[in-house]
Amino acid sequence: MNMPLHDQTLESLVFDNRFVQELPADPQPDNYRRQVTDACYSKVLPTKVSGPQLVAYSPEVADLLNLSKETCESSLFTELFAGNRLLPAMDPFAMCYGGHQFGNWAGQLGDGRAINLGEVINSHKKRLVLQLKGAGPTPYSRQADGLAVLRSSIREFLCSEAMHHLGIPTTRALSVITTGELVLRDMFYDGHPKDEPGAVVCRVSPSFLRFGNYEILAARGETALLKKLVDYTIRTDFPHLGEPSATSYIEWFQEICRTTATMIIHWMRVGFVHGVMNTDNMSILGLTIDYGPYGWLEGYEASWTPNTTDAQGRRYCFSNQPHIGQWNLLQLANAIYPLVKKVEPFQEALAYYNALFLKGWNDMLAAKLGFKTFVAETDDTLIGELIDILQLVETDMTIFFRNLASIPADTEVRNENELPANLREAYYKPEEITEAYRHRMNSWLQSYISRLQHDNLPNELRQQKMNSVNPKYVLRNYLAQMAIDKAENGDFSLVHELLDLLRKPYDEQPKKDHFAVKRPEWARNHAGCSMLSCSS
Ligand code: AMP
Ligand code: MG
Repeated sequence: MNMPLHDQTLESLVFDNRFVQELPADPQPDNYRRQVTDACYSKVLPTKVSGPQLVAYSPEVADLLNLSKETCESSLFTELFAGNRLLPAMDPFAMCYGGHQFGNWAGQLGDGRAINLGEVINSHKKRLVLQLKGAGPTPYSRQADGLAVLRSSIREFLCSEAMHHLGIPTTRALSVITTGELVLRDMFYDGHPKDEPGAVVCRVSPSFLRFGNYEILAARGETALLKKLVDYTIRTDFPHLGEPSATSYIEWFQEICRTTATMIIHWMRVGFVHGVMNTDNMSILGLTIDYGPYGWLEGYEASWTPNTTDAQGRRYCFSNQPHIGQWNLLQLANAIYPLVKKVEPFQEALAYYNALFLKGWNDMLAAKLGFKTFVAETDDTLIGELIDILQLVETDMTIFFRNLASIPADTEVRNENELPANLREAYYKPEEITEAYRHRMNSWLQSYISRLQHDNLPNELRQQKMNSVNPKYVLRNYLAQMAIDKAENGDFSLVHELLDLLRKPYDEQPKKDHFAVKRPEWARNHAGCSMLSCSS
């Protein structure tokens, strides 16, 4: 194992700002809102803030950058990642991209409140782009202020790190810093604006390129620049595909289909709902990006969405995510089509996405249920029936799957009048459990147990395997909100405690059981817990 080096100071970080060196810049140096054509980015400086204070940093991301605890706790760190200072090797810029929002082409969007500081090459020669979110306006800010509030910044910070520790591809978060300034937000766009504490998150990723970066160039007919950006992407982030060519363009697209499918299967595994799967929020690397009105399933409900803006159409609800992934890939295919000028390879890749998704979904559920492998003849029915049953009465997804692992394969489910004690904990409204329900669940359990007996794995081994895919701890919506409520009163302790808890989401953590319980009733219809908007 490579031990992280901790001796790196901020001043000695190595930068290689390839994006700005190789791609054309907007020639206009002034920072005002505009359409930016024939360019991939605009140079722009972060806006200085009056009273930056470190809320938290991620030790694992600091390790990636080879930064020590002392460095992360230094005032230079806070100044840099609040946007007040720059290192000489930084070369800040905002990217130009467009996107399909809620199914419609929205034109130019771009980094309206994100500013890339530069690209670090770490001690393992890995490229890591540092990006501030909420560091002030850019040419892409449109009517908005370029800022972010503490609540959404804590949500992004904690969730990025929680997802990483769950083994889910994601952009990372190095730090969250309050700015000492107030930001006006109308949380539900209903005429109740409020001053909230401002904050800046430093995000870290090998690349922040989105589907929308390619779409905007295609939409404008800037084909030469589109080719330049695709070639740049392949050389920088997909070097294993070899030199850019018509063949590698298709292989590149296939790889994006694969990584996107993998990411969404992971989301479905843990009950994560992104909430705004617009094409400007789809990473070219298949990373979960742009944590906004995301949420975690509490009760298992296919049509659940945390995003109040999407409550009507439910375009981005839990069960629609796989389909939207493919719809978004189709938009990307349309964008890069001018470089290939053949339809079939794209159609094949999109069909490949479907096949991959289906296989991944089956394998994932078989793993959640503790089967050796997915066996279509038995498991299609078992899985389908379980998903139906889970939606009959409100059943906590995380608790249900976690506790299912503790049912021994030699259990006899005889008592039709009771559900196994391990599962009873998962129900929000046990009083709604009817006799018919108990009967149906118990007969499912009987089939499930015969299926386990067929595999004949020792209970302990099966439990271990199941526990490695069914987390005990996730960033329950109300937990994030409790951390935010405290942080808004200057107490960052719960942010730290959750960051620490979510480092080992699959482990039993004695003394931390209270973070693994069902959502309390007060949080059922509470702002921030079950109702979120894009206002952030
Ligand atoms: P989102 O829905 O958060 O992915 O944002 C969509 C677009 O709006 C992106 O181009 C963002 O950069 C931009 N945006 C969101 N919030 C702000 C803000 N407060 N100031 C400027 N631009 C923003
Ligand atoms: Mg976005």
